[in-house]
Amino acid sequence: MSEEIAVIVGAGQAGAELAAGLRQQNYAGRILLVGEEAHLPYRRPPLSKAYLAGDASAASLLIRNEAAYAKLGIECRTGTRAVHIDRAAKRLVFEDGGTQPYSKLALTTGGRPRRLAIEGGDFPNVHYIRTMGDVDALRPALVAGRKLVVIGGGYIGLEIAAVAVKLGLKVTLLEALPRVLARVATAELSSFYERLHRGRGVDIRIGAAVERITGAGRAGSVILKGGSAVAADLVVVGIGLVPNTELAAASGLAVDNGIVVDGYARTSDPDIVAAGDCAHHHNEFLGRRVRLESVPSAQEQARTAAITLCGGAVPHAAVPWFWSDQYELKLQMVGIADGYDELVVRGDLAGDSFAVLYLKGGAMISATTVNRPQDFTLARRLVAGQSKLDPARLADESVSLKEYLPAGP
Ligand SMILES: Cc1cc2nc3c(=O)[nH]c(=O)nc-3n(C[C@H](O)[C@H](O)[C@H](O)COP(=O)(O)OP(=O)(O)OC[C@H]3O[C@@H](n4cnc5c(N)ncnc54)[C@H](O)[C@@H]3O)c2cc1C
Repeated sequence: MSEEIAVIVGAGQAGAELAAGLRQQNYAGRILLVGEEAHLPYRRPPLSKAYLAGDASAASLLIRNEAAYAKLGIECRTGTRAVHIDRAAKRLVFEDGGTQPYSKLALTTGGRPRRLAIEGGDFPNVHYIRTMGDVDALRPALVAGRKLVVIGGGYIGLEIAAVAVKLGLKVTLLEALPRVLARVATAELSSFYERLHRGRGVDIRIGAAVERITGAGRAGSVILKGGSAVAADLVVVGIGLVPNTELAAASGLAVDNGIVVDGYARTSDPDIVAAGDCAHHHNEFLGRRVRLESVPSAQEQARTAAITLCGGAVPHAAVPWFWSDQYELKLQMVGIADGYDELVVRGDLAGDSFAVLYLKGGAMISATTVNRPQDFTLARRLVAGQSKLDPARLADESVSLKEYLPAGP
């Protein structure tokens, strides 16, 4: 009989977690982690923060080193792209023509940056940020005095703007929608971040839709709809992520804004799971399917998938959360604020430390804190607890959020 082998395609945050999770679940077979990048799995958040600023080394980004994988009995094959899944034969095909049988397969293929489909969008000084290689190519161009145009006012665009302005570049950030963070945060938070960045010298232009990029062989001007031009020495584009679903789709797995999986990370094939940014998954806590792009979500989904591959069945019910670092401010966000009917602010939105709590029907469904780690920890528990709270009291900062937690055993 052939040896059991679990193969994981995609050596990123979810892949690394899933591989270790299998060992934690006492998986006794071989584990092979296959990734197309040249590196062992690494953390991406520093790519738009400390690593971009030159304050973190490549080695410090690794989730674990080679010795740690060896100790766990996890084989890593980097620089290898999977191009086909032969589900009938339970075999993977790689770009170099090699094949690999699997007993169980996990897809943790993440995503790639959405490209600007406009004239000039592929000039060599137009950058996208997803990998260490992307940042290695961008960093030498971040020279004080140069004009950087950031296209897209999401978290990644704002984080890059913060690093660049600190390095002395002249930064213009263009956002097509009426406010930054429009798809991921409420209007209060958007205003806060617009004020913050403008105060630090970033020229934020909202409602600024980019029409084309012009220049002689490289980007020199970003032309907006309406005709105005913004001069650029370099451009960074951060307009969202496209999940890597082609491998799954070509092998007949269900795909709809990500690889479709149930609450146990199962795809439509009983021997294949999927997790992380690529997975349109069912979250039991939210009571619906979502596709999230965050480290905590990738980690939690990977744990669920590892349990499933080992024959268990624990539904994925994690409360989503996320963070972003801009300048000296740490934002932390838990839950999803969609449909809130009451908003409570603790602290001062004009200051640099506050918490915004979102309630629906009296229960806290989401919270965003800035430089308030303790409030965040407590808010996470309150969101998870779903109990009814008194909004008027919640705003009173003299009462700790701890007071609202149910009494312990
Ligand atoms: C610049 C940046 C900043 C971020 N900041 C934060 C933050 O502050 N907080 C936060 O929570 N999240 C942040 N994120 C998001 C977070 O990094 C992702 O949610 C997380 O990396 C998702 O993990 P994943 O394993 O699903 O995907 P990935 O980490 O993208 O890993 C997928 C891997 O699969 C590989 N792959 C794809 N297809 C194949 C194939 N066919 N064969 C072989 N290999 C393949 C890819 O090359 C990639 O290495 C940030 C992301 C970026 C890019």
